[in-house]
Amino acid sequence: MDSLKRLEKELKNCVKCGACRAHCPIFTAVGREPVSARGKIALARAALSGQLSLDAPTREVMSKCLLCGRCVEKCANDVPTDLIVLAAREALASKKGISLFHRLAGFLLRNRALLSGGASLASLFGPLLFRKVPATSGLRLRFPLPFIGSQRSFPKIAAKPFLARHPELIQGAPGRPRIVYFVGCMTNFLYPEIGEAAVTLLKSLGCTVIIPKNQHCCGFPALSGGDLDTFRELAERNLAALENHQADYIMTACASCGGAFHRMYPCILGERFPELAERFRALADKAVDASVLLQKLGLNPARSLVQLELETVTYHDPCHLRSRGIIRQPRELLRAVPGLSLVEMPKADSCCGLGGTFTVHHYGTSMSINAGKTAAIKSTGAQTVVTGCPGCMLQISDGLRQAGSRSRVQHTLEILARNLAK
Ligand code: SF4
Ligand code: SF4
Repeated sequence: MDSLKRLEKELKNCVKCGACRAHCPIFTAVGREPVSARGKIALARAALSGQLSLDAPTREVMSKCLLCGRCVEKCANDVPTDLIVLAAREALASKKGISLFHRLAGFLLRNRALLSGGASLASLFGPLLFRKVPATSGLRLRFPLPFIGSQRSFPKIAAKPFLARHPELIQGAPGRPRIVYFVGCMTNFLYPEIGEAAVTLLKSLGCTVIIPKNQHCCGFPALSGGDLDTFRELAERNLAALENHQADYIMTACASCGGAFHRMYPCILGERFPELAERFRALADKAVDASVLLQKLGLNPARSLVQLELETVTYHDPCHLRSRGIIRQPRELLRAVPGLSLVEMPKADSCCGLGGTFTVHHYGTSMSINAGKTAAIKSTGAQTVVTGCPGCMLQISDGLRQAGSRSRVQHTLEILARNLAK
């Protein structure tokens, strides 16, 4: 309950106006007050005052949050519902125990050699585990596994994780910025092409690129299950891995990893562990999303080295970029690419429905939220959907495949790097 107690003042700031309700994707999908942002705050207050016990129904309600931050953006009183939900999950975990899925996830995230070994095995035995989805390039499990339904489609697991592909230091031109690249698990294991694009782009700008081998998962999956010990351990390991490189910037190309650095590390860990607060603040000051950094460094996508075919693209705003105001930069970069026509989809800034581990526990709701995104994408007729988060790429690809769409999904960096390819 300590975690909720720390947010007592913020909980009291909720005046129950309900302005957040209409913007909550879960409320829109489920239509029940308790799962809305206002409802969850009411439950957290009741739990804190002892009127409600932290039991299975409360856990169920608190699990129904995408941590998309939309309610926080819309609240005139600055009530941090995302942090309140996470505090309630932590309180539930300490009273009822961490769920089996999150215990397993936490164990693997703390033991990266095991995680890498598991990913290599899954890549090796891919054809036994997965079948190709007809007419598209996605993969589906041949049989359901715990926590993963057979309906979900996946990209291929990388035969060689991104972190094993490059030296730790790629020396750039004298006087050019030093960039530490925080890769993130999804790029490392599922979408190494995003990492390759990042390296290509930074090298084209003459930057020195540092890819610390000892970086870890940002910890978001552990945090979302209330596993604060694992979250703290991973955050501290990342501090040790990312500091001391005399970096000008620490670049992320995953919206959620960036969200962890900018919001979760300082707001959750910095508050609780004052001895770490200054280091988290320094990390947040240097951390920057790839689209913002590339603009800052003067990337000029109009200077194309290759003849590009005409292509229509549409852009999806990841929640953890939108909530940090990173909306304009990726679009400006895309609009500057010769031959590319950017068509806006309706509600480009609405959540895709992934919500990190939310999709594991609530796949049906996750995909019902995603159905709106799929329809919006299809309405543009775009050949390619572009976004700035590997998690959104996974979810949007899944929705498009299930809807029989042939549109492909790419990261902003892939589009920009293609521009430089020989
Ligand atoms: S969280 Fe904010 S917007 Fe939502 S009901 Fe409370 S005060 Fe209103
Ligand atoms: S973070 Fe998103 S899903 Fe969670 S309560 Fe707020 S708006 Fe709803």
